[in-house]
Amino acid sequence: MKPSGPALYDAVLLDRDGTLVEDVPYNGDPEKVRPLPGAREALDRLRAAGLRLAVVTNQSGLARGYFTEREMHAVHARIEELLGPFDHWAVCPHDDTDGCACRKPAPGLVHEAARTLGTAPRRCVLVGDIGRDMAAALAAGATGILVPTPVTRPEEVAEAPAVARDLPGAVDEILRRDRAVRPVVPRTGRAGTVLVVRSDSAGDVLLTGPGIRAVAAGAERVALLCGPRGRAAAELLPGVDEIIEWPLPWIDGSPEPVDPDDMRRLTARLAAVDADEAVVFTSFHQSALPLALLLRMAGVPRISAISDDYPGSLLDVRHRVPVGVPEPERALSLAAAAGFALPAGDEPVLRLRADLPAPAVDRPAGDYLVVHPGASVPARACPPERCAEIVAALAADGHRVLVTGGPGERELTARVAAAGGTDLGGTTDLAGLARIVAGARCLVVGNTGPAHLAAALGTPVVSLFAPTVPFGQWAPYRVPTVRLGDAGAACRDTRAARCPVAGHPCLSGVDPARVVAAVRRLAPG
Ligand SMILES: [Zn+2]
Repeated sequence: MKPSGPALYDAVLLDRDGTLVEDVPYNGDPEKVRPLPGAREALDRLRAAGLRLAVVTNQSGLARGYFTEREMHAVHARIEELLGPFDHWAVCPHDDTDGCACRKPAPGLVHEAARTLGTAPRRCVLVGDIGRDMAAALAAGATGILVPTPVTRPEEVAEAPAVARDLPGAVDEILRRDRAVRPVVPRTGRAGTVLVVRSDSAGDVLLTGPGIRAVAAGAERVALLCGPRGRAAAELLPGVDEIIEWPLPWIDGSPEPVDPDDMRRLTARLAAVDADEAVVFTSFHQSALPLALLLRMAGVPRISAISDDYPGSLLDVRHRVPVGVPEPERALSLAAAAGFALPAGDEPVLRLRADLPAPAVDRPAGDYLVVHPGASVPARACPPERCAEIVAALAADGHRVLVTGGPGERELTARVAAAGGTDLGGTTDLAGLARIVAGARCLVVGNTGPAHLAAALGTPVVSLFAPTVPFGQWAPYRVPTVRLGDAGAACRDTRAARCPVAGHPCLSGVDPARVVAAVRRLAPG
């Protein structure tokens, strides 16, 4: 049966040497072309799924005179003979000294391929064998999947948003992700009132937006239960008719003790929604089951959630998701399991409602960057002295730098902005911050709410990403991004709220010069 809703990808972009064919350095000889095992069959599966294919390849051998353009075309003809046709070949003929916009890790080839194939980079996935491929994909806003070879460096593997064992494995993952976000058995008729749930902070609520939009497209009415820290983000989401704010002690990072009276009041409040069904969105380390019990007690007849734990009679749709899936797709896949798809004309991206509340401050005029030094979780914040050095370096490179932060971060923003920026700390609510970020060339920020605000607004992100949680799951979604910070630091995958390593090395080592270079890559000119 054909899945419903928009596909996750329109096109797959493939690196050539080491990904499609054996890497023969500076090869100008068709006789030396050797496809990698399983490549033909894997590509044919993508073609059969209706995906368009392009090759994106650095060929500096042209600039260096090691082979001619004619020889390269002969090699490409041989590759097509062995692997089937490609819809486009995007080739960078330059070397590192040319400073071109196309040589990976620059995103130019991804832009060219997407344009030629009639789509956008965010609707493309790039498969390649080294860090340059992943960096080019991210800088264009595309998805990246690394297929390491013996020459791939360990730090490139650590930094990659996703890793597959080989090209057939990457193709499995591409097709699996697409199937997961689209219901195979769509609902007949609209649901009535659906209660959707996403506790936790602003970023989590924003990442659930596509899943909530899918539910809203198939429901008469949507009520959202969120926590106090997610309330402001909930107000920015399209598709939400009513917001219920309630802290959940099994979700909160610093929870209050469970109060039986409070749980009774919550159950009564949930019953008052009179929902026909509930979809409980969670992150991979949270349990939907305590709330499912309260929803049952509130009389909700149909409940869908992700649960590895046995749910007994608490869930009607028990969904399971492998690790490493981007959070927005995790949410969309639960919506799909419950029978909800994004409508035609929508697509899997973060979005804010068109009628944002009136801002408390005006959007700054002119050209500027935003540095947001704070983070909702301390382990994910770049140290203030390093943020100050980043502001100083950006100012020295000729940028106007605005420093933003919440009301509780005024001291931090004042300190960071003193290095050469303008301090806007505490002057805006989340909607006001959205206005400022929307007008920025680029946002420099850790793994925290404003990164996802930028993703929803299409503003490129220099992500100072502490590896305490997987980058592939929490990276700014489908927006041009450069990842900085030590992906292999000892805090990796600890989910620590406070950095467990003396000196916070994953982010304290970020070189301000690399932030300047990242801004140039994301927002040239
Ligand atoms: Zn080039």
